[in-house]
Amino acid sequence: MAILVTGGAGYIGSHTAAALLERGEEVVVLDNLQTGHRQAADGCTHFYEGDIRDEALLDRIFGSHEIDAVIHFAANSLVQESMTDPGKYYHNNVYGTLCLLERMRANGVKRIVFSSTAAVYGEPERVPIEETDKTEPANAYGETKLAMERMIRWFDAAHGIQNVSLRYFNAAGAHESGRIGEDHAPETHLVPIVLQAALGKRPHVAIFGDDYPTADGTCIRDYIHVSDLADAHLLAVDRLRRGEGSAVYNLGSGRGYSVREIIEQARRETGRDIPVVVQPRRAGDPAVLVASPERAKRELGWNPRRSDIGTIIRTAWAWHTAHPEGYGDR
Ligand code: UDP
Repeated sequence: MAILVTGGAGYIGSHTAAALLERGEEVVVLDNLQTGHRQAADGCTHFYEGDIRDEALLDRIFGSHEIDAVIHFAANSLVQESMTDPGKYYHNNVYGTLCLLERMRANGVKRIVFSSTAAVYGEPERVPIEETDKTEPANAYGETKLAMERMIRWFDAAHGIQNVSLRYFNAAGAHESGRIGEDHAPETHLVPIVLQAALGKRPHVAIFGDDYPTADGTCIRDYIHVSDLADAHLLAVDRLRRGEGSAVYNLGSGRGYSVREIIEQARRETGRDIPVVVQPRRAGDPAVLVASPERAKRELGWNPRRSDIGTIIRTAWAWHTAHPEGYGDR
């Protein structure tokens, strides 16, 4: 049996594909390389360059491999871009997922693990956030992810497509081998930006607001190591293979760090000076986002063991120092 990983050349997808290969799974990757990197999927059993909206290609893949589960990462994920070009997000994310589900149904594939996000919650009513809390996305990106979650649930009700949606908090860090890591263009995420500043590739880190109602005035986020996220996908596949039914899980560490704490930790780990400039708040940033990961721990047996901030920054720094230009393919 093989697992189809859509978006397997992306940041979280490639770390999940690596974890699947490490435990001996056959991995088929489908990625259009719009934001992914071919090199990140090296070692995968089969690689298809193509789009999830290409239904003929999906039929060819399902016809050529014994796929018993799909892990679906392929999506656009830039919050700001989703606000200026929501059509792109509805087309690739929502319509793309519809194509995938239709071809799964037609080909009798009944299991899907879905890459969702804390952005489905919007401004939280309380922290830590639990899966039963209100979902009211504050941006088009989160709105499309919530629509995808719901669409998948209706395909379960009608066609028995069992699913696990995993709502990620702030993915960070890199594979312990140093072979794969985070490389976005443009880069918008805090940890890689801080490390690029440590490398001298940026003049400074812009702190987006220091007047939030938090201890040091900067936003608090729940950072989770990308390989711990990857492990949760394997556990979700196991759950589906055991036939335990559909579910939704938060994936976070349950602990928050402020922007200033991340920068401080990066100064310690790298020994470099990291200049900062305080800028105005970024639109739509909640002050505090922290997960309750208790359900995933209890029901999946998930144990995030690399998500202390030291390990996150250390592994990310190893990747950045070894690959100062990222994969070098842009
Ligand atoms: N942030 C920042 N400067 C940057 C990038 C991010 O101050 O150059 C802040 C951002 O406002 C947020 C936190 O760092 O509070 C994490 O942002 P990121 O974009 O990494 O993830 P998000 O929480 O928005 O998904």
